[in-house]
Amino acid sequence: MKEGAAPGFVLKDVPEPSFRDDEVLIRVHRAGVCGTDVHIYQWDAWAQGRVKPPIIVGHEFAGEVVRVGQLVTDVREGDRVTAEGHIVDGRCLLCRTGNSHVCPYTKIIGVDRDGCFAEYIAMPATNVWHLDDAVSFDIGGIHDPMGNAFHTVLTADIPGSTVLVTGCGPIGIFAVGICRAAGASRIIASDINDTRLALAARMGAHDVVHPDEAEAVVKERTGGLGVDVVLEMSGVASAIHQAFSLVRVGGRVQMLGIPAKPIEVDFSTEIIFKGLTVYGVVGRRMYDTWLSMTRFLRSGQFDPTPVITHRFPLDGFDDAMGVIKSGDAGKVIFEIA
Ligand code: NAD
Ligand code: ZN
Repeated sequence: MKEGAAPGFVLKDVPEPSFRDDEVLIRVHRAGVCGTDVHIYQWDAWAQGRVKPPIIVGHEFAGEVVRVGQLVTDVREGDRVTAEGHIVDGRCLLCRTGNSHVCPYTKIIGVDRDGCFAEYIAMPATNVWHLDDAVSFDIGGIHDPMGNAFHTVLTADIPGSTVLVTGCGPIGIFAVGICRAAGASRIIASDINDTRLALAARMGAHDVVHPDEAEAVVKERTGGLGVDVVLEMSGVASAIHQAFSLVRVGGRVQMLGIPAKPIEVDFSTEIIFKGLTVYGVVGRRMYDTWLSMTRFLRSGQFDPTPVITHRFPLDGFDDAMGVIKSGDAGKVIFEIA
């Protein structure tokens, strides 16, 4: 947990979480570690402005339901589950029009309330998502970032398309595999990190390139036209400019990567006169992204297993943060039970 307003985490014995009548208590088996956790660990400016310690961190997990509140009818003890970590109010206009992924009242587990780097977590039953028997807790534990990738890919028109993925962090690598399963005709993945490019190739990228090679490869593979779709998954300014430049006229740029600070964009040349469509990705659509994800996993056409490169026990949190910061990892998970 983040005990106070300073860098680092501590491992601590805390009381079992209480849960409301419409919530369930879940024994956590696996938890994924995300860049957000690293920001909270390092206690950077974003974390200082958002997180109010003491708080249990972590928002990606899977486990087994051990107790259910009195009002819960569709989740039972023993169910194998994961959960949507964005807890929305369910009542605002956005929620009631099918847009709860952008609910202004969203509270995120591990950021705004206690999270999942723990033996137990309380979750609203409406956020619980059941896992198929064939889906392991390992894969269940990474549904959140995989869902970011599904949301990004499936809100573009992928079958037959040429796609450039800028940034092959865990989410970019998932996206490569999903594009492949969804029938993209050419997937070009770019990153500065060769470990991650190797994972992108393993997940089905046709070409893996360094950013300075991307333009030549895109031109060659698309007859000079540019790609139909760019999935921007780095948040890096130069990659964002490259996304606008290498997408074809009339194409689509899906923006998932979060820049650390404002960046300057020439709207007239980079977006307007190219007739681009730009889509901002927030989390996962509730719950159509989750349904698609379940169906793709069930079909066997998409297997995220190779993306998990490191596992740690919960008390290995310093090493887990170190591996992520080194960049030499795909997805890092905690094995908790
Ligand atoms: P990540 O931040 O590790 O991945 C970013 C990758 O971009 C790295 O592999 C890095 O080497 C690469 N990169 C750096 N410069 C590049 C360049 N010029 N061209 C191409 N690639 C370059 O990890 P992630 O967890 O996969 O997250 C990806 C991004 O998505 C991050 O910015 C993260 O903050 C953001 N994110 C957004 C949402 C959302 O809902 N919008 C959710 C989760 C994460
Ligand atoms: Zn709402």
